Amino acid sequence: MTTAPTTAPAQGTEKIQDAGHVDVLIVGAGVSGIGAAHHLRAQFPDRTFVILDAQDNRGGTWWTHRYPGVRSDSDLFTYGYRFKPWRGPSIAAGEEILAYLDEVIDEYDLDQYIRYRHRVTAASWSTEDRRWTVEVTRGDTGPQLRFTAGFLWMCQGYYNHAKPYRPRWEGMDRFQGVVVHPQRWPEDLDLAGKRVVVIGSGATAATLIPAIAQEAEHVTMLQRSPSYYFAPPTTHELAVMLGPLDLPDEWMHEIMRRQYITQYHWLARTSFEAPDELHAFLIESIRPLLPEGFDVDKHFTPHYRPWQQRIAIVPDGDLFATLREGKASIVTDTIETFTEHGIKVSSGEEIPADIVVTATGFNLSVLGDVAFTVDGEPVDFTERVTWRGVMINGVPNMAYVFGYFRHSWTLRVDLVSDLVGRLLADMQDKGATMVVPTLRPQDKDMQLRPWSDPENFNSGYVMRSQHILFKQGHREPWTHMLEHEQEREILPEADLDDGTLVYR
Ligand SMILES: Cc1cc2nc3c(=O)[nH]c(=O)nc-3n(C[C@H](O)[C@H](O)[C@H](O)COP(=O)(O)OP(=O)(O)OC[C@H]3O[C@@H](n4cnc5c(N)ncnc54)[C@H](O)[C@@H]3O)c2cc1C
Repeated sequence: MTTAPTTAPAQGTEKIQDAGHVDVLIVGAGVSGIGAAHHLRAQFPDRTFVILDAQDNRGGTWWTHRYPGVRSDSDLFTYGYRFKPWRGPSIAAGEEILAYLDEVIDEYDLDQYIRYRHRVTAASWSTEDRRWTVEVTRGDTGPQLRFTAGFLWMCQGYYNHAKPYRPRWEGMDRFQGVVVHPQRWPEDLDLAGKRVVVIGSGATAATLIPAIAQEAEHVTMLQRSPSYYFAPPTTHELAVMLGPLDLPDEWMHEIMRRQYITQYHWLARTSFEAPDELHAFLIESIRPLLPEGFDVDKHFTPHYRPWQQRIAIVPDGDLFATLREGKASIVTDTIETFTEHGIKVSSGEEIPADIVVTATGFNLSVLGDVAFTVDGEPVDFTERVTWRGVMINGVPNMAYVFGYFRHSWTLRVDLVSDLVGRLLADMQDKGATMVVPTLRPQDKDMQLRPWSDPENFNSGYVMRSQHILFKQGHREPWTHMLEHEQEREILPEADLDDGTLVYR
């Protein structure tokens, strides 16, 4: 087994250091990058590779987000990899997910390939040399390195880890309390006896509020409009039933995976086929968990179809328990202005606050904000089309991972890794050193659609950034499928010789 090239720069040198060549360069050591590395190593034990991550530790999302109570809203049987059994309750805390990833890194000996504090800033493809030249900055402003790679595997996630989305509201400058973003949670933030306002209504707000409600004096969730919630048990009833059978971990993982996959396929299908029924089901399932006489219409009845934005999971209904106990409350209104001591909303009400948490989401980033060029030409992604949500037309030897909105992200990591593995094997069989998705003559006048059709999925962070994203066509293979139920059939069978991939 060959290890990754050393990247230690010579002391005191300013110029770009040559960090060596690898067959595959993976960007990102989150769930996607670690999964990709495992699959690559399992299938091609002799290929050299390296994983570069800008952060100082593994885990991506789960390293960045360390606010109180941070947890998955997917079950871990499907959020865990296909190849590594999950042994805990269905929903896991951020730390438990990091521990799971550590086990994967450990068991598959991946640590030696990961280079932390390596931010990829630019990637240039040369057809003549059949390789990518990848510019890297160590730390924030540290020495520059240059790797070369035969294949680039972008596992960078979808948002900027360093810069969360922080909207500005009128009057923020005069607010005398503390404003924090969950992506940058101060470890020493003292909540004891504080009045906290959490701006936002998504999964982050729903997770954070029960976790801080006991310590804070009171928490107010301030939302512009309601979201959908679902309150399953932390441990699935099937797992409870199977518990006494003492099944091998692998069996348990597979059975629970199938259970959750079936359940989530049903949920996604129903959201399209019977949205009104699903809407009613979701609202009615939380109504009994709310305090007597609670205004469900105002605070918990969204104005969009279920799953047009993510459904926030509230395991065991803990958010609703804090509402019942009076430790938290909800205001549904728009912010007019911050005041010295709180937030004034359009109704005229002023919500007192010592701490304001802006659970307002992300700044989406396209392929890690890396500046791409192909044979000297800068790549403008807004003019490009996705090939199966895995590659991009006109960009050779590059795959990317983007997970599902409505299913566990990791289900797609495994599927995409299989496809990339097939592609690399195909190149080898054909004696090709380059593969590039290319629009065929019949694809040239194809009608292009936005990366995410707002009718299908329209969360704020996606809609804010559509203009910087690449596009999709209206037929395969130029589509970015959103449903695992279809993709798990389509991707393994994807024809690599249909003329849309040009091998050289
Ligand atoms: C709080 C929270 C909870 C979530 N819960 C769920 C859930 O329950 N289920 C679900 O399916 N999804 C969930 N998600 C979505 C989540 O982002 C994905 O599940 C998944 O973690 C993405 O993994 P990733 O490895 O693709 O990307 P990330 O986790 O974003 O990791 C990408 C890594 O790439 C690095 N990187 C990016 N650009 C560069 C660059 N230019 N150079 C070097 N390194 C770079 C980053 O530093 C980062 O470490 C959640 C998201 C958040 C924020």
